[in-house]
Amino acid sequence: MDLYEYQAKELFAAHGVPVLPGTVVTTPEEARAAAEQLGQTVVVKAQVKTGGRGKAGGVKLADNPDEAQAKAEAILGLDIKGHVVRRVLVTPASDIAEEYYFSFLLDRANRTFLAMASAEGGVEIEQLAVERPEALAKIAIDPLAGVDLTKAREIVTAARFPAEVAEQAAEVIVKLWDTFVAEDATLVEVNPLVRDPRDQVVALDGKVTLDDNASFRHPGHAALVDQGAEDPLEAAAKAKDLNYVKLDGQVGIIGNGAGLVMSTLDVVAYAGEEFGGVKPANFLDIGGGASAEVMANGLEIILSDPDVRSVFVNVFGGITACDAVANGIVQAFQLLNSRGDEVNRPIVVRLDGNNAVEGRKILTDAALPGLQQVDTMDNAARVAAQLAAQGA
Ligand code: GDP
Ligand code: MN
Repeated sequence: MDLYEYQAKELFAAHGVPVLPGTVVTTPEEARAAAEQLGQTVVVKAQVKTGGRGKAGGVKLADNPDEAQAKAEAILGLDIKGHVVRRVLVTPASDIAEEYYFSFLLDRANRTFLAMASAEGGVEIEQLAVERPEALAKIAIDPLAGVDLTKAREIVTAARFPAEVAEQAAEVIVKLWDTFVAEDATLVEVNPLVRDPRDQVVALDGKVTLDDNASFRHPGHAALVDQGAEDPLEAAAKAKDLNYVKLDGQVGIIGNGAGLVMSTLDVVAYAGEEFGGVKPANFLDIGGGASAEVMANGLEIILSDPDVRSVFVNVFGGITACDAVANGIVQAFQLLNSRGDEVNRPIVVRLDGNNAVEGRKILTDAALPGLQQVDTMDNAARVAAQLAAQGA
């Protein structure tokens, strides 16, 4: 999950990283009031989950409350790279002597963490990396050793931060590492990290990505989820602990095991080409030990997607054998009926693997309305795609 700047800076503050206070508002009038309260020149900053807000006109200085209101008026509703601005942050303007760049990230290619730092911040870092790669220090971080003051000084030296702020910057970097580790982030980025005219180092911007796989360790992070922006189906699925991602096709997909589901998406997309470009409508992995309830919840989520025209249940029996899955499907139909959510779109089931014969027999005997079995994954994908095309 990506955070908004104001949320990132709240996390920074909680870990002792110096930031300026701010108020998040949704109307020009509130921006005016926030500026009045601060009683000084402010910056009005678009809160959208994308970079380059400054260039896009989403960051503006305002000398007085009137101006703050006008600037907020101009920024609210702005479309920045496809993100419509619904909120702005009103924060004290800082005088900037110098702008630096700093980030910690998960370096997947090298299977470690990486610190990136430059005394030439403020600009887009991708551009700096291309044009002046020597100005961007990249230092691998041993996950077991972490970042102490000594390591932070090494980073600061490599990045050529000026001597006057080197020690302060090193202390900030240690706190950013604390944030990165304690919050289970995969990215913590500050651009710009500024030096003000009194040589104070402040994080003026913040970008944080949290590792969703660690969310169970952070009940507090739930409050950071942007309810309004989240896909309602994904939110409903999350509430039921389902591993669901909404896509924009018409064939609902349920499978057991992430790898199988991924290849199911490919096979359905391929088969769909023959039927006018029918595509998978979602990713849904119900995992290994899929109970009837999980199957019912999965079907319920998929059938509540109005784009879905057919459903493909693709199961390879392993530890949970096919007969158990088949019983799960039968019970899921009953459960859905009892909830008043009838299964009203065609379901194509492919069972293979452990106890496939028994599983198929259970489904055949149950004769569930609209459900048909197909033996192979490719053929099942084809049938599901065809049914989706017919149902459109
Ligand atoms: P981004 O463009 O989305 O990365 O947004 P930033 O928060 O980084 O702001 C962009 C630029 O606006 C910064 O690099 C600064 O040059 C400028 N800026 C942001 N806040 C202030 C401030 O408080 N005072 C001044 N003078 N400039 C600011
Ligand atoms: Mn920035």
